[in-house]
Amino acid sequence: MNEKGAFLNRRPIITIDGPAGAGKSTICSLLAARLSFICLETGALYRAEAYRLKLQGWNGNPENRADTKCLPDIALKQDKGRTRVIVGGRDVTEIIRTEEIGLMASTISAMPEIRQKLLPLQRELAAEGGVVAEGRDMGSVVFPDADVKFYLDASVEERVKRRYLEMSSKDARINWKDIENDLILRDGQDRGRFISPLVVPADAVVIDSSNQSVAEVIDFMISVIERILPSRKCL
Ligand code: C5P
Repeated sequence: MNEKGAFLNRRPIITIDGPAGAGKSTICSLLAARLSFICLETGALYRAEAYRLKLQGWNGNPENRADTKCLPDIALKQDKGRTRVIVGGRDVTEIIRTEEIGLMASTISAMPEIRQKLLPLQRELAAEGGVVAEGRDMGSVVFPDADVKFYLDASVEERVKRRYLEMSSKDARINWKDIENDLILRDGQDRGRFISPLVVPADAVVIDSSNQSVAEVIDFMISVIERILPSRKCL
């Protein structure tokens, strides 16, 4: 590996960056399945970090970090194209999908020590390539030499709608305004932080998915990948 995280003799790495609710996780897993790649959902790592701090009594206030000694272990597992998250031996993949944990993850993700800890782990997980990696700094920081980079966006209204539909099917107390407020707050934190802010990587293909179906986005991505990578044989 070189100092920028590039690997020699590896299969391709495709990155998808973008704000919360843009559909990155869904697109990542479907695109990875189409290519027979692994889908690496890096937000899950930040969520797992936040969750284990919450288990130690942290309330999300950045001034008031919990005791970080004796934290349970985090492990990621691939299962049917999705990233499963294990904390302290327990599968917490669904539990950590709440807006509360998302906001806590956003808060800790601005902390340099957290990002420094997770950077090598993400590169290790993608060491052999054949990976679609989604997050906020995939194309800009973690995999600057990725073969194909996408930036997936959608309007705030559309992103809130998607989150609302996803969350309200699991919890009847979910309310539109709370989701909108959390999403706007998270956008501000993710774009405004000093270290690894959410940006459009210079060489990324930008997709606004507000008025596109998942299938349309995937088909467009495949057409870009086929154009950029010299031959599907290298996939
Ligand atoms: O993508 P997801 O909503 O699961 O991410 C949760 C939070 O983790 C984001 O709001 C962001 O602050 C942080 N994150 C990050 N860098 C990444 C992935 C996620 O800072 N590569």
